Amino acid sequence: MGVRMAPAADAAILTQVALMVDVNGANGVSGMSGVSGTSAAGAEPEQVVVALGSNLGSDLGDARSHLAWAIQSLRGLQPTLGLQLVAVSPLYRSAPWQTEGPDFLNAVVALEGPADALAPLALLDALQALELSRGRQRPYRYAPRTLDLDIILFGHRVIDHARLQVPHPRALERAFVLQPLLDILPDLHWPGLGGAWQQCLRRVQSPLPVRVEGADWPSRQPDRYTPKIASKNF
Ligand code: AMP
Repeated sequence: MGVRMAPAADAAILTQVALMVDVNGANGVSGMSGVSGTSAAGAEPEQVVVALGSNLGSDLGDARSHLAWAIQSLRGLQPTLGLQLVAVSPLYRSAPWQTEGPDFLNAVVALEGPADALAPLALLDALQALELSRGRQRPYRYAPRTLDLDIILFGHRVIDHARLQVPHPRALERAFVLQPLLDILPDLHWPGLGGAWQQCLRRVQSPLPVRVEGADWPSRQPDRYTPKIASKNF
């Protein structure tokens, strides 16, 4: 099933994101004093990993539509956030974990931009705006959701802020994050763990996701893409 964004909706979302970035300042650093992370030096490219999930709607076609829409929207973030979408994992289906409701569809994407121009909180604002625009509600923790967008990794940074923890503190427990991550970044070194993160996938208690085939899913790994997160020493 092909999924297209309505142009008017695209414009509204990008305007909203642009306003947020403007409110936060050019680099979106307002309110970042609590961020205790280290940023990569200079304008070296830095890779960011975002996980996507959805499990609301009348059927999985709706969940797939939410995810495809989110990926299209992430492609549109480059002018405001300096992040270019460079890789999209295959699509996976997984049983609910620590929640109830229909099965989830999951994927992860990698984005890339110059390290000295990237702003983690501005990206979080943008992702939350995208979630809200798909009708995301938070009646209780881990409630079923139309669209969930989590920052899993931000280069080699370690961030402990009231609004943002990176690496995502629960990612290593989630097979539906680790499996698609393995697909697109097999040589990834996790801050503090190196390559041992792959062993987490073998030990996780969350249900293993099942790959969903689909010619229309925008899964891709460009030839030019090399996972620079893997080249860092932690
Ligand atoms: P969720 O229910 O998964 O959408 O949780 C979103 C909440 O987690 C928001 O209040 C975020 O500020 C917070 N949060 C902390 N770390 C992250 C992260 N790495 N990615 C996304 N949200 C995060």
